[in-house]
Amino acid sequence: MEQESGPRADPDGYSVLVVEDDPGLAGSLLRGLVRAGYRASSADTARGALTHVPSPDVVLLDLGLPDMDGIELCRLLRRRSDAAIIVVTARGEEGDRVAALDEGADDYLVKPFGLAELLARIRAVLRRTRPSAPELLTHGPLVVDPRTRKVTVGGVDVALTPKEFDILHCLAADPGRVVTRQEILERAWDAHWYGPTKVLDVHMAALRRKLGVPGLLETVYGRGFRLGEVGPVR
Ligand code: CA
Repeated sequence: MEQESGPRADPDGYSVLVVEDDPGLAGSLLRGLVRAGYRASSADTARGALTHVPSPDVVLLDLGLPDMDGIELCRLLRRRSDAAIIVVTARGEEGDRVAALDEGADDYLVKPFGLAELLARIRAVLRRTRPSAPELLTHGPLVVDPRTRKVTVGGVDVALTPKEFDILHCLAADPGRVVTRQEILERAWDAHWYGPTKVLDVHMAALRRKLGVPGLLETVYGRGFRLGEVGPVR
C-alpha cells in the first residue's frame, strides 16, 4: 500500500518517503510533514520503498519491517539512491545505530520522538545533502519558496500574482516583525515609490482572501503589516 498526500509533482519541493508499517504512525508523520511543507508519501514494506518512484530527497526508515530487515534495506537504498536516510526506530541499542550508520544512514532517531525534532533533523540532513537549495520560509501553515516563488498553505498550493508574492515574501522573510508600508512598497514595486499607498491595501486584501487564514496577515495600525501567530490549518 502506498499513500500520497499533499501537492503532487512539484519537482522543486522536497519529498519525504516514510517507510513504516504502523499505519497510525505513518499517517501522523505524513500529516506533520505535509503541514511543514514537504511532499510526503509512504510505503509500508521494504519492497514498496525500493520500488518507489521518483526517488525521494529524504527517506524516514523504520527498521522493523515485515518483509526485510531495515539495516539490509538501508544498504540497498543507499546503493541505488542519493536520498538522505534517517533511520526511525524503536531499536535504540548502540549496535543497531552503528550498523545503520555504517550501511549509509545519515541520521538515527529513536522512538518515541517529537515531530519538531524530526523536522529539525530533516532540515539538517537536507542542508548537508542538498546544500545549494535555499531555505523555505515557513510560518505556521504557510510555506514560501523564494526560488520557485511558490506558496502553500497547509500543503495546498496558493496561486498568487507576482506583486502578491513579493508582498508576502517581504513579510515571510522575517515573520513577526512589523514591516512598514513604505518598506513593502519599495521592495515590491520600486526603490523610489512615491505613489498612493492605497494600491497596497488592494493587493493586501486579495492576498488575505487567497491565503484564507484569518489572522495570518495582521495590520498593525499606523505602522504596517506582519505575519500573525496562527495554528495549523487542516
Ligand atoms: Ca515497524
